Amino acid sequence: MSYDTQPKASHFIDGTYVEDTGGPTIPVIYPATGAQIAELHAATPAIIDRALSAAHHAQKQWAALSGTERGRILRRAADMMRERNRDLSVLETYDTGKPLQETLVADATSGADALEYFGGLAGSLTGEHIQLGEDWVYTRREPLGVCLGIGAWNYPTQIACWKGAPALACGNSMVFKPSETTPLSALKVAEILVEAGLPAGVFNVVQGFGDVGSSLVSDRRVAKVSLTGSVPTGKKVYAAAAAQMKHVTMELGGKSPMVIFDDADLDNAVGGAIMGNFYSSGQVCSNGTRVFVQKGLKAAFLERLTERLSNAVIGDPMNEQTSFGPMVSEKQMKIVLDYIEKGEKEGARLVTGGKRLDRDGFYLQPTVFADVTDDMTIAREEIFGPVMAVLEFETEEEAIRRGNDTEFGLSAGVFTRDLSRAHRVIGQLEAGSCYINSYNDAPVEAPFGGTKMSGVGRENSREAINHYSELKSVYVRMGDIEAPY
Ligand code: NAD
Repeated sequence: MSYDTQPKASHFIDGTYVEDTGGPTIPVIYPATGAQIAELHAATPAIIDRALSAAHHAQKQWAALSGTERGRILRRAADMMRERNRDLSVLETYDTGKPLQETLVADATSGADALEYFGGLAGSLTGEHIQLGEDWVYTRREPLGVCLGIGAWNYPTQIACWKGAPALACGNSMVFKPSETTPLSALKVAEILVEAGLPAGVFNVVQGFGDVGSSLVSDRRVAKVSLTGSVPTGKKVYAAAAAQMKHVTMELGGKSPMVIFDDADLDNAVGGAIMGNFYSSGQVCSNGTRVFVQKGLKAAFLERLTERLSNAVIGDPMNEQTSFGPMVSEKQMKIVLDYIEKGEKEGARLVTGGKRLDRDGFYLQPTVFADVTDDMTIAREEIFGPVMAVLEFETEEEAIRRGNDTEFGLSAGVFTRDLSRAHRVIGQLEAGSCYINSYNDAPVEAPFGGTKMSGVGRENSREAINHYSELKSVYVRMGDIEAPY
């Protein structure tokens, strides 16, 4: 292999790579071949302590810089990420199996967007002045302290930056634990930040499984936890954080509805359904996996969808022509195959796909089920793979009611040419990140996050600042105090 995927060491602490082989082994597997491409070690208690201690000591000095000074470093890191986009994208493809065609435009670039955006905001973070006659109150926007980021495996670089950039802009330090499935790229983010001038200890990366995440969450030095992961993990992390009244951001799973009305532009609706179900082989939290299609358009929709899916280029993710890659791991592939089996058993009609590909790596076919009913497992549970469930509906009211009949609330989409209906329907769908005649756009300027079981808090946009800082209010009396005794 010409590209060196083995990092210098497993962890990045206090400005440098650190190893401790005492921790359990983390094999890194290239999903396109099943070959091991690196070996790391999970953090030992000593490593965890070292990372938290470094973050704790570095934070106050970092916060003492002006916002403009902090922002300058983040913006420099953004430029460096863009300059190194190709290398970072190749690494991300090795780590996740996502096609280079995607990683070149959606991973390091999205991370760079976050660093640039929050770097730009850092200098403008202010409190307010509230005049009360002679007296007055002023507020100070203060950092929380040491923030903990815990990542999922689908967008490792993006997740590290979406959490790190706003945290650092506000004057916090961070310990980031990537997913054990994709541990490589966060180390590069840390390396770049330090090269861009970030003081040692402000952004640290420690590797590990759930137990390492759990130890970090319950450490008293951690003021805030931001998790991207599944709902079951979210419940555990939220509960552990609550025990010490820590701030949280929870970016969790979904089973989002995409509602396509008869009057929708057919190709746009099909394109949206493809992007919202098969990009990254369906491993996207906000995917619109319950595709409600109005009765009159259903046959045409399924026909056009099948036709367009036959154009997917499935194969070597490093080939830039490839538009559909493998699942991230054998484990995830098996989970998805189980769901496909359940779909067939419970009576859904397999329109296309449904099989593992006969080749090395963890490849599944893009899969579409029609005649799916609301009670079927594939319509209720998050699959996190390339499986689209198409459900038929007749009326607007019905689509809204059935769309909302889920414990999740991450995203929702509407396709129609009737714009007042689009706004009316999206206004009633219970979800945090919504789309009209589009799907899964996630610019850094827009808040991102879920309602109901899909999460708490928002990432990106100015709103993220509120989740990485808190207000101190200071009452200033200009005259004498009147006390009764
Ligand atoms: P996961 O919940 O298994 O793991 C997420 C992270 O939590 C990993 O780093 C893991 O090591 C860690 N972890 C596990 N148990 C822990 C514990 N008890 N304490 C602390 N940390 C612990 O999720 P995954 O399989 O890596 O990712 C897929 C899930 O993530 C899907 O449900 C998907 O919808 C969700 N996701 C959500 C978003 C979003 O922004 N809303 C984005 C991407 C993925």
